[in-house]
This record gives sequence, C-alpha cells and structure tokens, in this order.
Amino acid sequence: MKTNFDLILRKNIKKLKSYSTEKVDCKVKLDANENPFDFPMQLKEIILKDLFKHLFNRYPDPDASLLKELLAEEIKVDEDKITLGNGSDELIQSLTLAFGSKSSLVFYPSFSMYRIISTVCNIKTRVISLDKKFDIDIDTTLRYIKKNQPSLIFIGYPNNPTGNSFSKDKIVNIIQSSSGLIVMDEAYSEFSNKSFLPLINKYDNLVILRTFSKAYGLAGCRIGYMIGSEKVVEQVNKVKLPFNLNSISQRIGIIALKHKKKCNKAIKIIISERARLLRKMQKISAIYTFPTEANFILFRPKVSSKTVFKKLLSNGILIRDVADNKLLKNCLRVTVGKPSENDAFLHVIEKLK
Ligand code: PMP
Repeated sequence: MKTNFDLILRKNIKKLKSYSTEKVDCKVKLDANENPFDFPMQLKEIILKDLFKHLFNRYPDPDASLLKELLAEEIKVDEDKITLGNGSDELIQSLTLAFGSKSSLVFYPSFSMYRIISTVCNIKTRVISLDKKFDIDIDTTLRYIKKNQPSLIFIGYPNNPTGNSFSKDKIVNIIQSSSGLIVMDEAYSEFSNKSFLPLINKYDNLVILRTFSKAYGLAGCRIGYMIGSEKVVEQVNKVKLPFNLNSISQRIGIIALKHKKKCNKAIKIIISERARLLRKMQKISAIYTFPTEANFILFRPKVSSKTVFKKLLSNGILIRDVADNKLLKNCLRVTVGKPSENDAFLHVIEKLK
C-alpha cells in the first residue's frame, strides 16, 4: 500500500520548516551568538583524560546527579529545584509538553523557538508585540494575562535578538498576575549580570532557563538547565527523555564547573569588546545601533540590510539577517567576536554610506 504522507502528518507540522543554519564558508562567524573563544585547551586535555575512565557501554545517569549537585552549589539553589536538558532548547520543549495545557504567550520579537515549540506541541500561541523601544507593553500584557491566563509565558532576559533586559518591576508584575508559569530565559545573563534567581524561592510559578552554550563556550556539547519550584521540576522530569544528557556532556559540564574561573575568563573579554564595538558602531552615521546587555548587537543600516549582509559575507564575515516587515525592519544582528573579528566587521561597516 502506498503511504499518503499528507494524510498522516499533523497539520501544524506540515506548515513548519526544519531548523537549519546558513552553511557558508566564512572566516569570521558572528551569526549564532556563540562564544568566539573555544573551550580552553588545558581543560579539553583534562576532559579527554577523564573520559578514558568512563564506560561508553553504559547508559548515562538519567538525573545527571553529580552535575546537578555542583550546579546547586554554584548557584546556591536546592538540587530539587534543578533539572538538566540537552541544551535549554530541550527544556523549552519539556516545559511546553508538560505545562502547555492552555496556551503560551510570547513577545515579538523574541527567540523563535518559543513559538516553534508551541506549534510542534499543538498549543495556541498569542504573540504580543514589544513597543518601539523593544520594551514590554505592560498594560496590553496584563490585560491579556488577566483575561486568558496563558499556561506559559516566555521572556528572554536579555531578549534575543533585541539585546535588552526588561525592567524587573514589569516582570514581577507579570509573575504576580499570572496563574501560569513565567519562563525567564537567561541564556545570556552572564553578559548582563542580571537574573531572577534571587526570586526563585519567592514565586513558585517562576522558572529560569540557563545554558552552558554561551558564557561557557560549550554550544556544541548541549548542556542547559532549568531552575524552578520542586513541583515544576517534578513534572518536567516526567516528560523529558530518560537519558537526555549524554555521559560525555555530563562529564564536560562537571569539569567546566570545577574550573569555572578559567572558563569564565572569556566573559570579561566579551563584555569589554561589546562596549568597544558599541562605541564604534554608534559613531557610524550609516547605521542605527540598539543598546544591548547580551553578547550580540542589533543594528539597522540606512541602506538595505540585504546589501550590508552580502557585503560582509563577500569579506568573509557572517552575521544574522533578522529583518522582517515589522519592528525588525531592515535589522541585522552581529555577535560580539574576538577583537580581531570585531575589527574585521568594523572595517566593512565603517565604509557604509
Ligand atoms: N534561549 C535563547 C534566548 C537563545 O538565544 C538560545 C540559543 N540561540 C537558546 C535559548 C538555546 O540555547 P541552547 O544552546 O542551550 O539550546
């Protein structure tokens, strides 16, 4: 019998495109908000030696217990309030699977996966636009929450791709007005030094997502974690796959935490490069540069963003085209790179007219 895939495919999956990234040859890769510095070689050596001692034929620890214990110590939170994921992407999915009973609320613009995962999980998503300064329109948001009480609200802190962090008062107001979960996505919080972690014991509907992908320079190893009330963690643990974090990633996470100081050296450099890049970009009259607290900068050229994107690419520099027809019209996003990479980027955009 011949299979008619259109008949068996769920409607919401049919309209999606699979995730892919730009596969182009470039000398300077500033498109994915990665840490430009690879994980320190000395630590890679420690990891390799460590891996010899571990059995590859055995399944990993489903609870990633040792990594969780070290994390709990590091962030001073009870272990029962933490769970780990194959990147924070997976935790967005697990949260949506477990708590997407009604609907989700996301802001525009924000990280696209919140919406994609809601679609995959077949839950309704309401999108509320940020204002022109990329801030939350609190009246519209509270009105919507009070009327509809979405089961999940995703908030980037700082927000991707705009780079700003919303005011704490607004977020607290949202948390206090909601019966659903408020998921503060703190993927870039090491660059902003702001976090909702101090409030984690105060509100049981507050959930925080963190990752080793950015500040720790471990995007390739897929380690994310979630902090939330014991009740939330318990439900997420039911829906996530049993061995979601492989043994190698668990060991890498453990070694990264044990050598945190060495790993985190890059953060200081990225923050100071961000300030330098911002200063220089703000002097270029051919672009408008938005303020940022993350490891990337959003900007809007006066000429077509497509032209600027291509010009950079012809010079071997890849950034992210985030332009669409609404608030991000003609906008581009550049990740803060190594000093020499930032210089190469500046060299091209300083010539824009
Ligand atoms: N949240 C935000 C806001 C992000 O920008 C990203 C990565 N681009 C993620 C989560 C996913 O991070 P991870 O690598 O931990 O899946």
